[in-house]
Amino acid sequence: MIEQKMLIAGQECVASNGATFERKNPLDGSVATRAPAATTEDAIRACEAAAAAFPAWSQLGPNARRAMLMKASHALEAKGEAIAAAMAAETGASGIWAGFNVHLAASMLLEAASLTTQINGEIIPSDVPGSVAMAVRQPAGVVLGIAPWNAPVILAVRSISTALACGNTVILKGSELCPATHGLIIEAFQDAGLPAGVVNFVTNAPADAGSVVEAIVAHPAVRRVSFTGSTKVGRIIGQTCAKYLKPALLELGGKAPFLVLDDADIDAAVNAATFGAFANSGQICMSTERFVVDNKVADEFIAKFAAKAQSLPLGDPRKGPVVLGSVVDLATVERCNAMIDDAVAKGAKIICGGKADNTLMPATLIDHVTPDMRIFHEETFGPVKGIVRVNGEEEAIATANDNEFGLSSAVFTKDTARGWRVAARIEAGICHINGPTVHDEAQMPFGGVKASGYGHFGGQQGINAFTETRWVTMQTAERHYPF
Ligand code: NAD
Repeated sequence: MIEQKMLIAGQECVASNGATFERKNPLDGSVATRAPAATTEDAIRACEAAAAAFPAWSQLGPNARRAMLMKASHALEAKGEAIAAAMAAETGASGIWAGFNVHLAASMLLEAASLTTQINGEIIPSDVPGSVAMAVRQPAGVVLGIAPWNAPVILAVRSISTALACGNTVILKGSELCPATHGLIIEAFQDAGLPAGVVNFVTNAPADAGSVVEAIVAHPAVRRVSFTGSTKVGRIIGQTCAKYLKPALLELGGKAPFLVLDDADIDAAVNAATFGAFANSGQICMSTERFVVDNKVADEFIAKFAAKAQSLPLGDPRKGPVVLGSVVDLATVERCNAMIDDAVAKGAKIICGGKADNTLMPATLIDHVTPDMRIFHEETFGPVKGIVRVNGEEEAIATANDNEFGLSSAVFTKDTARGWRVAARIEAGICHINGPTVHDEAQMPFGGVKASGYGHFGGQQGINAFTETRWVTMQTAERHYPF
């Protein structure tokens, strides 16, 4: 069991009233972590610490910030084993998923390091004689990062790394489901020697999330909120940010469609389908949630896909390597079981897997899914995937767009120009032609549309999100006025 601490102003600390909460292992209910249950007083203290650290950090030269972010990247990689153990204990994640998390998060820190010298402005021609007019980008202030448990290292690092590169100071609000995993990221920043108060870490009991988050958003020093999580909570955060006029970046849920057109390379599609649907047991925002398959190739695709899905090793990740570990909680099992029951009652057919009675859920495929079924519209966020059969490209596109979400998507066709035309018509922030829906790289513009949120992480897009653009003029000649 890990006794987690918060970090405020460079000091490890407990909650001001000593309160704690526990995170239990999803498989056996053993206590994985005990963590401080922050009060709003703690939240405000974290804002003050970040505000106090802001002047020096924002004035630091880009190479000094770059050096520390690079050190943080290496420090994070050095914690790979501890992170894998914490993820298995807190969320039931497999070693493969933990390794991928550490690798991509370390890469995000390197990308952030490289961005410190890429924060550009522009000179804009002015009609006022002698006026040199500039658009300049400046650090915004204190940034609040809120990240979920499902890709805990990637998403927590993503929520604060570019913000730090741009000269902001940050508060990471850890997930209630993985406080120790998030705590290890904070340790990496400490190992890298970031000055006290530049990175602060607050953990809260589930019931206090609303009050702790609102206390931080309301604080005048806080100027940006970066939230990754469910659409349900994203709407609450969006409303809270609107109340205090704080810009928010919202990366929310998804229901990624994967189109298999009649000329697809079926073997390539099956490989991408298996990875995109079952990595981390389907608990990824980009996870393929809907297979939209042309009837002409459906039987072949489904037979091959089911054979591969059934071969994926499933088990307790603490006991050895698996592809499918434990899902995060019994609520996931119950949600997926209910969607299977609903789909079967309305005429769908289970191709492989099926309902589970514990958090070790098998890879499950449900064929003949139709729009009247819950699984057509709602995120399963588990290893249970629906297949919708369609006739032709137009029906495939219409089916893909018949959804409130719009994060990732994929289209398989041997005709790449056709793939390009179809991709342009899919309502999603991300589309991969002949690639899986699960694909993330630090330098790419990552973000969704519709109920998947707004704003982008990655490269220049991240700089835009975490800086304030200002118009500054310099009058270099005598200025004439009308009176
Ligand atoms: P969640 O929305 O339940 O929790 C995320 C965070 O919100 C937690 O830190 C929690 O403390 C906080 N929170 C909960 N209630 C709150 C409230 N009332 N006020 C303020 N904050 C509150 O999400 P989750 O279940 O942890 O994560 C899974 C979801 O995240 C899925 O929907 C998934 O698709 C989505 N997700 C999106 C992306 C993306 O990049 N778009 C990435 C990963 C996950």
